[in-house]
Amino acid sequence: MISFPPMKAFCSLTLEDLSAWLQEKGEKPFIAKQLFEWVYQKLVLDFSLMSNIKKSLREMLLKEFSLPLLKEKRVQTSSDNETLKYLWELPDGKLVESVLIMSGERRTVCVSSQVGCPARCAFCASGKEGLFRNLEKGEIIEQVLLIEKHLHAKGERVSHIVFMGMGEPLENYETVVASIDALTNPACFGISARRITVSTVGIPEKIIRLAEEELKVSLVLSLHAPNQHIRKKIIPYARKYELAELLTAMDYYFAKTKRDVTFEYTLLKGINDQPEHADELAELLKNKQCTVNLIPYNPVDGLNLDRPPKENIEDFKDRLEKKNICTTWRYTKGKDIAAACGQLALQHPLQKTTPLQ
Ligand code: SAH
Repeated sequence: MISFPPMKAFCSLTLEDLSAWLQEKGEKPFIAKQLFEWVYQKLVLDFSLMSNIKKSLREMLLKEFSLPLLKEKRVQTSSDNETLKYLWELPDGKLVESVLIMSGERRTVCVSSQVGCPARCAFCASGKEGLFRNLEKGEIIEQVLLIEKHLHAKGERVSHIVFMGMGEPLENYETVVASIDALTNPACFGISARRITVSTVGIPEKIIRLAEEELKVSLVLSLHAPNQHIRKKIIPYARKYELAELLTAMDYYFAKTKRDVTFEYTLLKGINDQPEHADELAELLKNKQCTVNLIPYNPVDGLNLDRPPKENIEDFKDRLEKKNICTTWRYTKGKDIAAACGQLALQHPLQKTTPLQ
């Protein structure tokens, strides 16, 4: 059974929610702006330290709202100091992870949207045990807020967000959209939508719905196969949706938002890495304005899969590029701390209770 604390998460509130609450308590609604400034600009997460707020209100806030909600259980730093993996404990004792990737000027936070994942892709650690539960908005926002606080100490700020941690963001749709709203809102983080990326296993109706929100975030489809037959073998969700339907939804997203469309392709030795697969993929994506991001498989404990040899990866990339498909080969950072793509797992003995499916 999930037991949330009786208090509401401060970071789940919009400015309007907070103004309404203040008004209800007979306070001036503009105080909401001051409170947001303390939290999101000054990064002060203790109501009792908010010096321009009167004491009686500070006490009320302390009783009513939890801040912070997440407890930092562990931070691991990669050997090159460029990747940090954060393990958070949620109010119900569940655990999720986020990753901070520091690359040049960029400070990218890879956030989780669910505890576990319903997609259960064959190569991914996060879905091995299925879905436990959705994250609340406050639990998503605080992943960014607490990392921002760490960076703040060094005079830096989070610059980019990717929804590529644990979970399938489009299966926690409303909460993810509300979180994007807070991330882009100047009263909160004020991060440009262009610097926010949502990665999905591919749910056509939700992709279309997201296009219609006009949020203008970048969308990444985890494609991983040049045809429906192979895709079905490695992605259980592909049994529900035809590849053609999915690509039509991606075309719609591009037409509606003009945001870049990227296809992720995790290369698995002997499964989707052969020369004929590259040629078929090039054919599938011809005439599309897109990028293919090749990710060599990151080994996950207990999975009987291999990363292709470097020559195969290079050959795969060459074949796509010869056919004018823009291709990137993602150098996976943070491998030594298992913080690379798909390695965020529920491997911790602290994880309690059983998944939903
Ligand atoms: N559910 C979303 C977001 C989480 S996965 C999605 O499916 O896109 C984020 C990215 O990591 C996806 O492209 C996913 O396919 C990739 N990934 C997962 N496990 C991986 C692994 N073991 N090696 C390399 N990439 C992996």
